[in-house]
Amino acid sequence: RDGHLIPVLLTATPVLGSGAVVVFTDITQIKAMQEELRHQAETDPLTGLANRRRFFTALLLAGERVARKGDRCAVLMLDLDHFKRINDTLGHAAGDAVLRHFAQTVRQTLRQMDVCGRLGGEEFGILLPQTDDRAAAAAIERLLRTIRQSVVVFNGHAIRYTVSAGGTSFSISDRTIDDVFARADRALYQAKENGRDLLVWIAPEDQ
Ligand code: GH3
Ligand code: MG
Ligand code: MG
Repeated sequence: RDGHLIPVLLTATPVLGSGAVVVFTDITQIKAMQEELRHQAETDPLTGLANRRRFFTALLLAGERVARKGDRCAVLMLDLDHFKRINDTLGHAAGDAVLRHFAQTVRQTLRQMDVCGRLGGEEFGILLPQTDDRAAAAAIERLLRTIRQSVVVFNGHAIRYTVSAGGTSFSISDRTIDDVFARADRALYQAKENGRDLLVWIAPEDQ
């Protein structure tokens, strides 16, 4: 009556000789619950970031946009440095606090349209749509610097940590998202080899 729309379930029962009885049921709450469940199924509970599934769905959609519209899109893989040491010296809960700090910092650093997902353990993927290589590298360097300068306070301990990153961009010659992802993974491996706490960028060969 006031003009706002609500989702309804419509049930019609025919009545012999006189049309039908139609019942509208307000399913606003059911829809909200479905949405909540869907969100939970795609979210990493520890960090609140996208989980692996949601990240790869976003990667797939980004790849399609690149193929269709020639969009620029950067793909990065990040891995916390010497993370095992934090767990081993201060305990698993301290490690969890660092993972949450990392997620919070990513949320504060990246744009609304960017996607960061926890791929497992202390490994993360980042997707920067409509971003050229230079801007992507600048954004990730800024993230790495912020992390490097941060202190996580846990149970009276001041924890410092760093992150390594490997980045690349989608190319129209990439046939699958695995091609792009493998390049980012290779770049990350080089970042670890080259001493950690840095970004290595591997541009697609056709650029
Ligand atoms: P590198 O710099 O080479 O990446 O060294 P690293 O110690 O970070 O790498 P490694 O893969 O050896 O260690 C990852 C550790 O992450 C091992 C595992 O116990 C820990 N880990 C994985 N998932 C979680 C989690 O959810 N919470 C905590 N606290 N630790 C986790
Ligand atoms: Mg690590
Ligand atoms: Mg790792």
